[in-house]
Amino acid sequence: MKRTPGLRCTIGNHPARPQIDLAIATGLSKRAVAERFGVSRDVVWRHGQAHLTAEMRAALKPVKGIGHCRDHLRRKWKAGEFPKPIAVSDRIAFREDEIDDWLASRPRRNATAGTR
Ligand SMILES: [Zn+2]
Repeated sequence: MKRTPGLRCTIGNHPARPQIDLAIATGLSKRAVAERFGVSRDVVWRHGQAHLTAEMRAALKPVKGIGHCRDHLRRKWKAGEFPKPIAVSDRIAFREDEIDDWLASRPRRNATAGTR
């Protein structure tokens, strides 16, 4: 069995893998991802093809529809009341699973006060 270290995916064990996955999922160019995280473009491409499933891409998409402005959110995550975003290039994004957890952990207040 020949070992081909050049073909191994170095992103799987990369300490910044979540950010790399996110960067790929948000459509950052391979070159930008490669430069940013110090890996080769080939590796980024291969990782995107082999290890970043469509499901993961969807889960990593920037969350929309959160009804707070950015400053409000920043205050909340600084206070530990909201999942910390992951910085991607000059944008910020959140992981959908973390948002879901966060939403699930919120006490559910009755929006329609007076019902029952
Ligand atoms: Zn990989």
